[in-house]
Amino acid sequence: MCLDELQQLFNILKESFISIDNLFTIPSTPYKEKIIRKYASPIINALPVKGRYIFTGIVKKIRNPKSKLTLNYPMTYIENQIIAKTLKIHNLRPWWNKKAVICLSHDIDNVEGYRYTKTMAEIDAKYNIQSTFNFITHDYKIDKPFIHSIAHAGFEVGLHGYNHDQGFAFRNPKKIKTEIKMAIDALDTEEVVGYRSPALSISETLFQVLSEMNFLFDSTMQIASPFYYSVKLPYPYYFKKYDMWEIPLMVQDDNYFRDSSNSENDILGSIQHFIKDIISLNGVMTINMHPHIMTDNRKFYENFIKLIKQFSNDVAYSSTRSVIKYAKTNINNS
Ligand SMILES: [Zn+2]
Repeated sequence: MCLDELQQLFNILKESFISIDNLFTIPSTPYKEKIIRKYASPIINALPVKGRYIFTGIVKKIRNPKSKLTLNYPMTYIENQIIAKTLKIHNLRPWWNKKAVICLSHDIDNVEGYRYTKTMAEIDAKYNIQSTFNFITHDYKIDKPFIHSIAHAGFEVGLHGYNHDQGFAFRNPKKIKTEIKMAIDALDTEEVVGYRSPALSISETLFQVLSEMNFLFDSTMQIASPFYYSVKLPYPYYFKKYDMWEIPLMVQDDNYFRDSSNSENDILGSIQHFIKDIISLNGVMTINMHPHIMTDNRKFYENFIKLIKQFSNDVAYSSTRSVIKYAKTNINNS
């Protein structure tokens, strides 16, 4: 019975002697990075979309001058190797009777992305994928009937912020709360229960505010980033302190299209690598594809969807919200 199997999976994690609570600790961002994010963000945001993208590209190029694909895969970590070894004996199918689950999300960072949202929703619908669209509400004009149509079509409407402020998590709590509230009001749908922070900035203050505003989950922490703090484990985690879930992010199109240069085959090979890892871990693969990046890579995007669908015997495809609701119902957290 699959309900028991999800509980069984979480029991195995609990008994694995891996300190999950320690891994899911909100990292404190280094002072220098905080300052850069806080003060550079208003300047970058004043640039036109293309300029902003090029600027971020240059910054990443300084960090990775040869544009080599630098990624960690879940099984790189000893913690996951240990978990996979135990799981092998159990042969669980904990996610709707599948071994693993893929959550496809789309962060709509700017007006270019917003314009391409409808097309992306059509492609996802064609392949029967219930994805999550995370909106910003200030940087482009939100058309409420359009948001409602996305929700009606079975997609998840999530929040990516008021504007794409890279230093958002480091603002004062009052500002954080006010802007999130304005953004929720602009989306005008009761469906918004999930959040992903712009530029993945994170802090205790941000989580505290999300918790006060009754968010069900956040999806900002990273699983296997080669540059930033990573939780390593590809599973949803319940933060007792905030009465809120975290569903960490595995990989984004940025990693392939902005931070490095790769052939389509290399990218699809890398994504396949992630999927195989996730299957052996009974995990959740959250993958974020930005519409403003996919607008120039439509053929790639369809090939990507075809690739992930090849694993449908073993993998479920779900919005982030559905995974959390499923976990919330079926896991005893006490
Ligand atoms: Zn973003």
